[in-house]
Amino acid sequence: MRRWTGYFIVCVTIFFGRRVWADELRTVTLVYTCSNNGMLRACACPGDPRGGLARRASVLRKIRDEVGEVLLLDSGDVLSPLKRFEKDAVVLKIYGLLKYDAVAIGDQEFANGRAFFAERVLTSGLRWVSACLKDAETGKRVAPPYIVKKLSGVRVAVIGLVGPDVFEFMEPDKTGGLTIADPVETMKFYLPELRRQADVVVALSHLGDEGAVALAECVQGIDVIVGGHTQVLLPEPLKLGETFIVQAGPDGEYVGRLDLTVDPKGRIVGTRNQMIPLDRHVPDDPEIARMVEAYFSGRVK
Ligand SMILES: [Zn+2]
Repeated sequence: MRRWTGYFIVCVTIFFGRRVWADELRTVTLVYTCSNNGMLRACACPGDPRGGLARRASVLRKIRDEVGEVLLLDSGDVLSPLKRFEKDAVVLKIYGLLKYDAVAIGDQEFANGRAFFAERVLTSGLRWVSACLKDAETGKRVAPPYIVKKLSGVRVAVIGLVGPDVFEFMEPDKTGGLTIADPVETMKFYLPELRRQADVVVALSHLGDEGAVALAECVQGIDVIVGGHTQVLLPEPLKLGETFIVQAGPDGEYVGRLDLTVDPKGRIVGTRNQMIPLDRHVPDDPEIARMVEAYFSGRVK
């Protein structure tokens, strides 16, 4: 779905001092997913069905066994596009077991209505981030705007962004009482704060592919944008200026892995990106597979 209609933007260039450390190059591993769309198991498509949270869990374990600590991210639309209360509750539970570091709030997180969002989504224990979404009445954000995590001595900030355009086709009652700030202006506002706290800045962009490009072009100083909302698969990162854009495609069919090599001045001097297909060659994680099958067999409601 391409829903970008354009944000009014004044492009700026902002220069920031970066932290300097004294030793060698360091590597941080970002693992990213998007557009799960409420999927618990592989698509029912013919040929080589891909996806499924049990396969995802296996891939995540393998990467963690290889490199130790990673930054695990999702750019939103974790849940189904239509009302699926019971199924989405299982998705949320499994996402919690996968130990995400930050998950952006997408429009589909509201598809079950505001009550489900407040009572089940926000209280699920997932580390939701959203710098743009506020309660209109109280003016408070519905979730923290960003997180900062240190890996291999490198501090990484991750901010969540979503724009008004992506809610275009959602019934008003599902998002009533929310205000949605312009994501580009929001990113400009937060970037100095993020730069003070982190060596690497990552934006979880629930803005569509064109929105992600506009973000990169108009706010210099973002290192990585993890795209979402549109079901785009980027086999290799796009590079716009100094910003890398990655996106992992539709229905949770892939896990993306981006290894960043960071120099002693905090600059990204190398990248290695892999798109890992969750195909039949990936074994199921037994615990997650049991939870998924329990749902489909009617043992979990
Ligand atoms: Zn979306």
